[in-house]
Amino acid sequence: MPEISRRASSLGTENAFVVLAEVNALVRQGRDIISFCIGQPDFPAPDHVQEAAIRAIKSGKHGYTPSAGIDELREAAARYLAAMRGGLPIRPEDVVVGAGAKPFIAYAVLSTTDYGAGDEVIYPNPGFPIYESQIVASGAKPVPIHLREARRFAFDLTDLEKLITPKSRLLILNYPHNPTGGLLSRKELEEIAAILRRHPQVWVYADEIYSRLAYAGEFFSIAQVPGMYERTIISDGASKTWAMTGWRIGFTSNPLLAPVFTRWITNTESCASQISQWAALEAINGPQHAAEAMKKSFRERRDLIVRLLNEVPGVSCQVPGGAFYAWPNVTEACRRIGAADSEDLRRRLLNEAGVAVLADIHFGTRVPGEGQHVRFSYAASRQAIEAGVQRMADFIRKNTKKAA
Ligand code: PMP
Repeated sequence: MPEISRRASSLGTENAFVVLAEVNALVRQGRDIISFCIGQPDFPAPDHVQEAAIRAIKSGKHGYTPSAGIDELREAAARYLAAMRGGLPIRPEDVVVGAGAKPFIAYAVLSTTDYGAGDEVIYPNPGFPIYESQIVASGAKPVPIHLREARRFAFDLTDLEKLITPKSRLLILNYPHNPTGGLLSRKELEEIAAILRRHPQVWVYADEIYSRLAYAGEFFSIAQVPGMYERTIISDGASKTWAMTGWRIGFTSNPLLAPVFTRWITNTESCASQISQWAALEAINGPQHAAEAMKKSFRERRDLIVRLLNEVPGVSCQVPGGAFYAWPNVTEACRRIGAADSEDLRRRLLNEAGVAVLADIHFGTRVPGEGQHVRFSYAASRQAIEAGVQRMADFIRKNTKKAA
């Protein structure tokens, strides 16, 4: 038999999809499960965006487009990315539109590291699992940088100093952060930039897909720090901001890499769906009240879930600064019920309490000394949040070992 390549065999996955299959199997058996697994807004795309897609289809705008996207969307995205980031000098030709933000993770790694050269990529742990998966599959060396609860899920700068070597090619940052909801302050980003100034060979991939869901103050990108613009790949898109995950529109900007990313797209999907591109243009240029209302709703639900989680025995949860994820520390809850770790707790919550969450191990290796965590996506209804966290609290109370 012909064999599957080591590269393909080494490909990781997003365990959210694996757990979701587990949840769906239980639901099919008639089990009542409250799910906090999936990382997507629980809203439809705004009406005017849907209308724009229908108009595109009806008016015959559904063929191939240039690989970098239609000019109208590149122009709008350039203006939008700049306006949200203190007026950066982003030009339409610096912007590439893709089928979601995700493909640019692979393109960025492939465009900044060489196979078999020992090139290193530093990425957040815990973090979006596709970073590590793509780093490994592309033959680069994965270098995780641990996030610290005591630093509100930023990393220690001394860790960054230690991890950067002459082989470092790319630093992946993701703020607001999946899965912790953490943010980096302007000061922290300036400190990171100060370190990077001494290592001019390192690119930055700023995964800013949750930039419109930063709840405190104005969003600030590392690309805004003097000297960082040229070497930063800004990644954003329509998925989270306008509830358009399945429409598959992401946009990335970098003056040097835009033509390179365009060529990758020509070699892979050819272009993002033209229909979705016209819809994304309307999302950017049209009224923003739907996006603002979603943000307000997420913020209210954040406050609710954090308050409720902190009332659960053995659970403590920081207030996340952005995205729609809560990342409670469940170390003490595990101890009380005799769960081996967060994954054991997750399984028991699912099977015995009917509550679906993801565990820290779905986002990387557990950070030594940082305890056990699970992720709640609070893109769920208020009722689901109240009932789900109540189930968790009841489950922990009921199963608390007497000796604990
Ligand atoms: N980056 C992060 C951190 C994400 O959480 C996600 C989606 N869950 C993506 C990128 C991918 O976004 P898209 O759906 O636009 O490809």
